[in-house]
Amino acid sequence: MTTQGKPASFDAEDERWMRTVIEKAIEDGADPSLTPIAAGIVLGGRLIALARNRTEEDSDATAHAEIVAIRAAGREIGDMELRGATLYSTLQPCGMCTMASIWSKVGRVVFGAGREDVHRMYFEDRQIDTLDFIRDAWRNDLVFEGGCLRKECARLYYGPDDIVPIEEQGNI
Ligand SMILES: [Zn+2]
Repeated sequence: MTTQGKPASFDAEDERWMRTVIEKAIEDGADPSLTPIAAGIVLGGRLIALARNRTEEDSDATAHAEIVAIRAAGREIGDMELRGATLYSTLQPCGMCTMASIWSKVGRVVFGAGREDVHRMYFEDRQIDTLDFIRDAWRNDLVFEGGCLRKECARLYYGPDDIVPIEEQGNI
């Protein structure tokens, strides 16, 4: 899955960073009810931010892993623009985090499990695929690639056909 229409390709470096992000996601346990979503931002071969979803801990609906990581990365380098950086996320970013990626100026987003791999509870819209935001963005230098360690990431989440208690479904 890519915005350029060609298959995404991930090298050993991508997989290594994604494993680091997966470890962060499951630091408190791997059960889907714990929402083990994490994101990391790499710039110049250095990990400048690593964050787990903190919505419950912070009582903050915007504290998705990608948002927390973008904020930490900006503080780390003293610049709100993260040009040249790659954001790794265990799950395809939601609409909010996709937009935040665009605004942050990261150059590339690599995610593990995609929209089709997980329960619909992880996405806010019935029809809109967040990748459409990228296709329609003014910026044309942002690359979104999904499927890095797809199986390892997908197994962290409720699957498309899982019966999820209504109180656990964050999008309704
Ligand atoms: Zn999000």
